Amino acid sequence: MKTTCEVCSGAIEVPNDAIKGEIVSCPDCGTEYEVIEVKEGGVSLKPAEEVGEDWGE
Ligand SMILES: [Zn+2]
Repeated sequence: MKTTCEVCSGAIEVPNDAIKGEIVSCPDCGTEYEVIEVKEGGVSLKPAEEVGEDWGE
């Protein structure tokens, strides 16, 4: 599925099996987004600004 980059309005390809928490990046501007919700027909993303995730240390 595809979604739109908030920064450059480019198309971001999100894997159909994307899961919550997955990071995708815009191929045009490189902005990284975190998948916050997966629903039928689309995903919700938020900019992944925080560096370092909770991978337990
Ligand atoms: Zn972009």
